[in-house]
Amino acid sequence: MEERENIRVWETHSPEETFSIGEQLGRRALAGQVYTLIGDLGVGKTVFTQGVAAGLGIAGPVNSPTFTIMQVYEEGRLPFYHFDVYRIGDLEEMEEIGCEEYFYGDGVCLIEWANLIREILPRRHIRITIKKDLEKGFDYRKIVMEDI
Ligand code: ADP
Ligand code: MG
Repeated sequence: MEERENIRVWETHSPEETFSIGEQLGRRALAGQVYTLIGDLGVGKTVFTQGVAAGLGIAGPVNSPTFTIMQVYEEGRLPFYHFDVYRIGDLEEMEEIGCEEYFYGDGVCLIEWANLIREILPRRHIRITIKKDLEKGFDYRKIVMEDI
C-alpha cells in the first residue's frame, strides 16, 4: 500500500484481495461515514462492498440492490446503507427515498456509482476509485481511497 496525505492506493490481483481490503475498511468504519465507489461496470465495486459488509459483521449475502437503489442491513456492528445508483433517473428519486437521512445518519453509507449523484453527495466523504489496467492482467485492479 502506498500512502500520501489523505490518499491510499492498493493494487489487487484477485477478487479475494479486493474483498479483503473492503473487509478491513468495514472493521474500522465509523458511524456517519459515507464512502463513494467509482468505477466502470464489472470493475469490482460490489466485491469491495461485500468485503465492507463482512467487516461490519453482516453475515447475509450483499448484492447490488437492482430495484430499490438502496438496501439497509441492520445486523452488523453499525447499520449499513448500501446504495447502487446506476439506474437512477434523476436526483429527485434520491430525495424520495430520503437519502439525506442515511447520508447524515448514524450508519455507514456506501454508494456505488456515486459519480451519478455528485450534486447531492455530502461535502465530506471518502472516495474509492477502482480501475482496471489490462496491461497488468485481467484481474488487476488499482484501488485509490481519498478523503474529500
Ligand atoms: P461492479 O459492482 O463494479 O459492477 P462486480 O463487483 O459486480 O463489479 O464484479 C467484479 C467482477 O470482476 C467479478 O466477477 C470479480 O470476480 C472480477 N474480478 C477479477 N479480478 C478482480 C479484482 N482484483 N478485484 C475485484 N473483482 C475482480
Ligand atoms: Mg455493482
